[in-house]
Amino acid sequence: MSPPRTVVIVGGGISGLATAFALQEQAAAAGLPIRCTVLESGQSWGGKIVTHRIGELITEAGPDSFLSQKPAGLELCAKLGLTDQLINTNETGKKAFVLYGGRLHELPEGLVSFVPNQLGPFLRSGLLSWTGLARMGLDVVVPRGPSEGDESLASFFRRRFGAQAFDRVLEPLMAGIYAGDAEQMSLKATFPRFFELEQQYGSIIRGMMAAKKKASSAPASGSTCTMFVSLKNGLGDLVTALTTRLTRQGVELRLGCQVDALRVRSHQLGRWMYDLILNDGSALSTESLVLAPPAYVAAELLRPLTPIAGGLLEMIPYASTATIAMAYPADAVAGAVEGFGFIVPRIEGRDLIAATWTSLKWPHRAPADQVLVRCYVGGVGREVILRLDDDQLAARVRAELSALCGIKAEPGYVEVNRWWKAMPQYTLGHLDRLTQLDAALSRYGGLVLTGAGYRGVGIPDCIRDGAVAAGRVVHYLSVKAAS
Ligand SMILES: Cc1cc2nc3c(=O)[nH]c(=O)nc-3n(C[C@H](O)[C@H](O)[C@H](O)COP(=O)(O)OP(=O)(O)OC[C@H]3O[C@@H](n4cnc5c(N)ncnc54)[C@H](O)[C@@H]3O)c2cc1C
Repeated sequence: MSPPRTVVIVGGGISGLATAFALQEQAAAAGLPIRCTVLESGQSWGGKIVTHRIGELITEAGPDSFLSQKPAGLELCAKLGLTDQLINTNETGKKAFVLYGGRLHELPEGLVSFVPNQLGPFLRSGLLSWTGLARMGLDVVVPRGPSEGDESLASFFRRRFGAQAFDRVLEPLMAGIYAGDAEQMSLKATFPRFFELEQQYGSIIRGMMAAKKKASSAPASGSTCTMFVSLKNGLGDLVTALTTRLTRQGVELRLGCQVDALRVRSHQLGRWMYDLILNDGSALSTESLVLAPPAYVAAELLRPLTPIAGGLLEMIPYASTATIAMAYPADAVAGAVEGFGFIVPRIEGRDLIAATWTSLKWPHRAPADQVLVRCYVGGVGREVILRLDDDQLAARVRAELSALCGIKAEPGYVEVNRWWKAMPQYTLGHLDRLTQLDAALSRYGGLVLTGAGYRGVGIPDCIRDGAVAAGRVVHYLSVKAAS
């Protein structure tokens, strides 16, 4: 029997771990024996997924849920036996608010999928003036934009719906997800569906209505999931389930193992061997290499091999953010918190990007006599606040909650989580750069990039992209094994 093929995955976030999981699955299906190692520079697995348990409180330092409409997240949970741990958002309190003119307004219904399919709720929300609303309705007659080239989120949505709807509602909903600047963000790379709707229907409203009609005439999917789902005891359980399964499958998982440099040995017949230089000075060789750290780390590792790829990767900027979790006595905030929380448009000029009433959204994340709140600060153009120390940052956020919601009580628990260079920004031209990157790396057989920096930042995107990366490795090694 031929010896197992070697694969090393750099980065033990959800992208690297999901790649390792898919690799085991796909290599087994292809009858390809592999020996897989995952190297993680930190002291824990999961990267941005970090769940803390403090008594009966469950806080998430990074992501707190994932989209159920993108199937990769739910499918991975099912494969790991976590389906019975999945939880829906608390539908009884399903409301969200947006700050406008210093006051919180309820977000119009129908914005669940980010774009209105009816204008009535907008009218009732009082968010837009008559002229703003009329301008929104013009979406049905505004000519479609060119199919070629890229356009910023800001330009696209202002063109289709007008400045008022964009500034007051769409900007915080969309740019907020990326902690980004809508003027710089690529529509095609972040929300390609809206580009497709415009191209197909000539109008987003018409496209959304057609999609709604199609969905209502299609057989019921049987899914009982809300738009966002989480795991009962936190997303950290996804990471634990993955590492437990991978260990059982014989994957070598190494923590505290930072890859400092990469060398390549080229053999005849296009065969490659990658040598990784680790932080303890040792080296590790592998036939196939998956790079799953942030793009700026991949840039440093790849620059000596291909300065072009290094340069392209470096052009993917990352925004820094912080999340501040605070637990209040429930009676001290009664009446002040309602629904899931609120988002803050950039034009409001506040420190907060958003606040989630975590324990109203996911009821069992705090005991009944406490309310768990999570606030977000930072993001592109708003990072200066992160220079404050933890106490100052918490004080600033409390001042915002006091001004916006009247919460004056002292929280019983405060936790500040800083995320430096954490949110990749898909800026204008991002997809073109990915194409150039593929070309620059095409000669390096068995070398694959995956992670949030490229084809989707959400957890399901990372899982899906990891499976694609695994497929490319299995294909490469299978062809190589046969040659
Ligand atoms: C505050 C916050 C909230 C978010 N909320 C949500 C949400 O609610 N839902 C959602 O779907 N997504 C959310 N996201 C996005 C999502 O969490 C991330 O995009 C995703 O987890 C990134 O996974 P990744 O594996 O690609 O990268 P990472 O999690 O960054 O993992 C990369 C890993 O590589 C390691 N590494 C780096 N350099 C090296 C090296 N030289 N050698 C070895 N290892 C190295 C790092 O230590 C890290 O563990 C959120 C992100 C943040 C920051």
